[in-house]
Amino acid sequence: MNQPKRPGFPAWIATSAAPKTVNARAVATAPAMAPVGLGLDSAAVRMRMVQRLAASGIQSPNVLGALGRVERHLFVDSALVNQAYEDTSLPIGLQQTISKPSVVARMIELLEGAECVRSSGSLGRILEIGTGCGYQAAVLSCVAKQVYSIERLRGLHEKARNNLRALRLTNVQLLFGDGMLGYAQGGPYAGIISAAGGEVIPKAWLDQLVVGGRLVAPTVRSTGQQALLVVDKTPHGFTESVLEAVHFVPLKSGIA
Ligand code: SAH
Repeated sequence: MNQPKRPGFPAWIATSAAPKTVNARAVATAPAMAPVGLGLDSAAVRMRMVQRLAASGIQSPNVLGALGRVERHLFVDSALVNQAYEDTSLPIGLQQTISKPSVVARMIELLEGAECVRSSGSLGRILEIGTGCGYQAAVLSCVAKQVYSIERLRGLHEKARNNLRALRLTNVQLLFGDGMLGYAQGGPYAGIISAAGGEVIPKAWLDQLVVGGRLVAPTVRSTGQQALLVVDKTPHGFTESVLEAVHFVPLKSGIA
């Protein structure tokens, strides 16, 4: 897969210098709470997580860089910080979960494979369905020009707002609403990524993609199992690939 190049956003492996883009710098230098329970150096623990992701096949320097910068332990309850850099999903309240780092990385790397990203060299506007605690939105902010993230549970929308406030990400807009309707005002999108799995892909998502754009979403198959689905919008219609099995919380309609 060709990786889009972002000037000023060095591969994490090449240098530990602060990234030059404003938004990514905000993530890297935002005032952080003491990483309770993580010892003195959460950066080292995070780098080990990134090394494991690279060893497991994630190749995009942008994605690895973003996972290396965003402090996942700030997005989970204090009782869970010791597990923040393990490759595991964790509860975030209201029966929802923050996705595994490997799944976050995999899905964002798939977004980077969109035709419009490969031809332009950068990830433009992204819509995330299911903000949850805001972790993936923060990761996306490092790799995309603009991120819109929508959550249907008010409690989690507020939680994400609180989590992201200190990071002062200028390119993330959090929305409270039913993501099954998409967010036409922010589109059309180079990529749409869903953190919740339904039985059908809402038509609004397909409508709101640019030609050359890509949707990455878990979807429930006829077997009842979820699989990762990639849909590309081409000048001639949509192409679809079903990838590996995944386990996401259900996509639900309406707000609560
Ligand atoms: N990306 C999140 C993962 C959250 S879990 C993170 O990094 O924490 C998936 C989220 O999708 C849940 O918070 C759930 O409430 C939300 N969700 C489910 N259906 C939705 C819908 N129709 N619109 C918006 N959010 C939805």
